[in-house]
Amino acid sequence: MTQFNIPLSCPSCDGRMYVASYDSSLKILKNRSWQVCYQCGFERETEQFKKELITV
Ligand SMILES: [Zn+2]
Repeated sequence: MTQFNIPLSCPSCDGRMYVASYDSSLKILKNRSWQVCYQCGFERETEQFKKELITV
């Protein structure tokens, strides 16, 4: 698993967030990534976040 900082603030507590991603070695499983808050542990799927950006 890898993680990197992102310039976004948490919608719950306004803390700093990072993206964690999991690269699957099994091709039947899609790679997935999600955003996590350092402060409160809030999580959301990156794919869901992209959908929200598009609809705004
Ligand atoms: Zn938070």
